[in-house]
Amino acid sequence: MAQVRAVERVLRAYPTIEGAGVHLHRAFGSYEVPQFDPFLMLDDFRAPRPEDYLPGFPTHPHRGIETVTYMLDGTVEHADSMGNAGKVNAGDVQWMTAGSGIVHSEMPQPVNGKMGGFQLWVNLPRSHKMMDPRYQEITQNQIPTVSPQDGITIRVIAGSADGVKGPVRDIVADPEYLDVTMHRNASFSQPVKEGYTAFAYVIGGEGTFDLRERHPVMNRDLVLFGDGLSVTAGASAKGFRFLFFSGKPIHEPVAWRGPIVMNTADELRVAFREYADGTFIKKKA
Ligand code: MN
Repeated sequence: MAQVRAVERVLRAYPTIEGAGVHLHRAFGSYEVPQFDPFLMLDDFRAPRPEDYLPGFPTHPHRGIETVTYMLDGTVEHADSMGNAGKVNAGDVQWMTAGSGIVHSEMPQPVNGKMGGFQLWVNLPRSHKMMDPRYQEITQNQIPTVSPQDGITIRVIAGSADGVKGPVRDIVADPEYLDVTMHRNASFSQPVKEGYTAFAYVIGGEGTFDLRERHPVMNRDLVLFGDGLSVTAGASAKGFRFLFFSGKPIHEPVAWRGPIVMNTADELRVAFREYADGTFIKKKA
């Protein structure tokens, strides 16, 4: 097996409408199952026009997954069935394990005229789909920044980089989530566990991930890596910024409808029936 992971696929995020009319870009979602296992979806809701995001995501349920919100600008106000309410502000991460069920709302708001962030969905294995819901709320100052070499800064949200561990812990998928900023012409290398799924989502500048690849990738390109023991990246003269993810595949059947992801159609039927008759929430606090 090659040491450095090759670029297996490059996909372009596509515009779609979610929630109550939020215009966002989806890097990948249900069409791509199971290529990104254990990850299910990555939404990019960076948007310059308030009318594209102010409708927000009013009350909706989740079961069987984790949703991870990372904000670059603005804020998301959230409130849920466990009585939690608060804001995810710029630079913060909310790692929400829906498990057996959460009903919540998520409403983006601008700060100084700007709003933008990302939501990742991480699948739970059959053994954990009905676990108690929980949050890991990480504020900006709890996320370490490392600089393994000149011209590179990495915010370590989960997993580790340059020997520094991120604050998100005890997640079944053993995820890595890095926000990597490379200055012009810098090069980057990150070890990745063999057999783990790994991908990068470009959020600025231009660069390459596979030294054999001549075409640079840019904002809103999604790169899925083949297997191997490390990932490399090279920045162009414009610099390069991307989110990097890896995680342990679950290898189970995926039954997905809207905000609920289970293993079988019967489990989906039960979940939506429970939501309709008011017995969806298993743990209130
Ligand atoms: Mn949600």
